[in-house]
Amino acid sequence: MNVAQECYQIVDAGLTWRNRFHALGPRFYTPLAPQPLPAPYWVAHSQASAALIGLNAHWAESDALLQVLSGNQPMSGTQPLASVYSGHQFGHWAGQLGDGRAILLGETQGWEIQLKGSGLTPYSRMGDGRAVLRSSIREFLCSEAMAALGIPTTRALCITGSDAPVMRETVETAAVVTRLAPSFIRFGHFEHFASRSQTTELQTLADFVIDHFYPACRRQPALGDNVYASWLQAVVERTAVMVAHWQAVGFCHGVMNTDNMSILGLTIDYGPFAFLDAFDPGFICNHTDRSGRYAFDAQPQIAHWNLYALAHALLPLIQQPTLAEQALAAFEPTYKRTYQRLMLAKLGLGSVLPPESGIKAHADSHPTESDDGVVQSMSALIRDTLALLAQDRVDYTIFWRRLSHARASGHYEPVRDLFISRPAFDGWLRRYQALVDPSDNGIQAHGMRQVNPKYVLRNYLAEQAIEAARQKDFSGVANLLTVLQQPCDDHPAFEALAGFPPDWASKIEISCSS
Ligand code: AMP
Ligand code: MG
Repeated sequence: MNVAQECYQIVDAGLTWRNRFHALGPRFYTPLAPQPLPAPYWVAHSQASAALIGLNAHWAESDALLQVLSGNQPMSGTQPLASVYSGHQFGHWAGQLGDGRAILLGETQGWEIQLKGSGLTPYSRMGDGRAVLRSSIREFLCSEAMAALGIPTTRALCITGSDAPVMRETVETAAVVTRLAPSFIRFGHFEHFASRSQTTELQTLADFVIDHFYPACRRQPALGDNVYASWLQAVVERTAVMVAHWQAVGFCHGVMNTDNMSILGLTIDYGPFAFLDAFDPGFICNHTDRSGRYAFDAQPQIAHWNLYALAHALLPLIQQPTLAEQALAAFEPTYKRTYQRLMLAKLGLGSVLPPESGIKAHADSHPTESDDGVVQSMSALIRDTLALLAQDRVDYTIFWRRLSHARASGHYEPVRDLFISRPAFDGWLRRYQALVDPSDNGIQAHGMRQVNPKYVLRNYLAEQAIEAARQKDFSGVANLLTVLQQPCDDHPAFEALAGFPPDWASKIEISCSS
């Protein structure tokens, strides 16, 4: 079967395209085909992502699809483009950026399909338009891991690789990640048009996002009948929820520039990210981030800062600064409520809260005054738990997982073993056990195992899989994907992937270079 025929079958098999971003017109992008990737081969696939767009079971064997997703063949129905945006990088206005190495193919089944690493675009600036195998594996695995953890994120369908050399600190090889998201629009898209006083384009883009992704803001504007302020508030809330998830799971993004902030509140642009090993609140995962602007414990504040930049860009539409302020004020309560709900679930203390409590019921309802005492004492417990972990640099993931098992068995020794300061731990344990309802332990322990993952994408695990992939052994990537897609289950064959990081793990340096 030749490529053209097989392509036709792929389209026939369910990939019908409607390209709503393309329909916005060329003020928002440059129409552009991806550049071919020499002699591509498959590196990794996610069946879970394939299911989202209804690909048939044999897609991963299709040479036609390999060519399409490497940028070597057009696919009928797609209208490829590179979009333009601007942004604040490390707190400074960076001016025009844009899709420097990503091509949006189009939209199918409600998912936009983007090729990352697919060659030069008008927005490549000093870059080469390519992505390397190393960073592509990291993005692919982390997207799918975050999704499986229930954290809002863009998705990854596959990686295709090539032996074509790409210069970074050393010579590496090229790869393309196929990414999926309902939309890849960033805060920076709005900053772009606002910075140029292009209010018509700003409004067109805002209306597009509201109509397709936030329709309730138009039907029932929450803030003074102002659709744009209400929408900003909804973006503020989604962003706060996303960052609360990051903090609870111990995820550090590393490059929270406004061009890396999704307007849908999705985790996007996986670069020098890390899951915490030893708990260190000030952990800086990006080797390039000397000042620690994007340190782990700074993330909520930085998200809020980025939302201010977005609000500033949207002022020509909102028109009333007090409404923009009100929208931004939703950040803190939404963040706190979500974070506390997530942390109490990790502690297996969700049921300690009164049943009517807003924290337990919904992230968006408010706790009553009578709950205040409980809420405050729970906040203190969470804070003190983290302080205890920080003091002894306890492994964050292993602590929570062992606590889940201890809750079921009543044997807390394996948790205690993690601490150097045993009296401090014993004091904490007495306080914790005083809050625990023993009759509820079975149910709570089960719930804890569902929210305290056994497997996270530690940097050293990614490094091992990358090293093997460089030798064309892609089994390490596939094995990691298997456990990360079911991160709370036991995988007896992959017990080693759930252990403590080796000593060399703390020496890994990940920079922005990708
Ligand atoms: P990042 O720090 O990866 O979010 O990238 C910031 C900007 O630089 C975005 O506009 C990217 O598209 C662009 N960029 C990053 N790497 C490259 C590259 N290798 N070639 C072209 N553009 C790039
Ligand atoms: Mg980026």
